[in-house]
Amino acid sequence: MAKVATKSARVATKTPVGATTKRARSVAETAARKAVIVTALEMSRSGLSPGRSGNVSQRFGDGMLITPSGMAYDTLKPSDIVYVEADGAVAKGARKPSSEWRFHLSAYHARPDGYAIVHTHSLHATVIACTGRPIPAFHYMVAIAGGRDIPCVPYSTFGTEELAAYVADGLTERDACLMANHGQITIASCLTGALELAHEIEVLAEQYAKLLAIMPKPPVLADDEMDDVLRRFKGYGQKAQG
Ligand SMILES: [Zn+2]
Repeated sequence: MAKVATKSARVATKTPVGATTKRARSVAETAARKAVIVTALEMSRSGLSPGRSGNVSQRFGDGMLITPSGMAYDTLKPSDIVYVEADGAVAKGARKPSSEWRFHLSAYHARPDGYAIVHTHSLHATVIACTGRPIPAFHYMVAIAGGRDIPCVPYSTFGTEELAAYVADGLTERDACLMANHGQITIASCLTGALELAHEIEVLAEQYAKLLAIMPKPPVLADDEMDDVLRRFKGYGQKAQG
């Protein structure tokens, strides 16, 4: 027994806790970087982000890992994904983060329960966003964003602090919102969830756009009906706020 204990002690001396933690973080960080790339590729292949629009991030440590600025997703390597610290700092030698990194960071500050963000200029969500209006409860599935409607935050130039503040406001009470004259953004507890929600928002936006074409003022569900749906969604383990 004494011999085993000695051996354990020797191993422990050779592998300080700090080094183990550092190595574990490095393995976890590489996996997280790969997951960001997989999600960005999936977003791109599914047609949700025309051209090089759209970006993906995942909370990591005190900051986040985000897709770089202006690089085609199919060329990305894990080292191209950029770690942005909580105060916006980026390590020397790292790629330039997406020009829209500020609103990703502000959204994480606003939503401590959020771990992944997908932002796209998907066609129909952007069409509705260009009206500057929210998507009302024309269909009960609107509750998937966590409330009675899918709000549309005001326009501001991409990359600005002002837009970051608008997005943080929009995602405080919802898991998704439209961004006027720009696109849509979703937040979830994982990358898959954020991407799935972006798909849901795009489908709802397409349905709503088609509905507006045949009926300028479509009927919307009453607040108490939507509250009932929100309660049921909550029962299914999905995030829903009133
Ligand atoms: Zn954008």
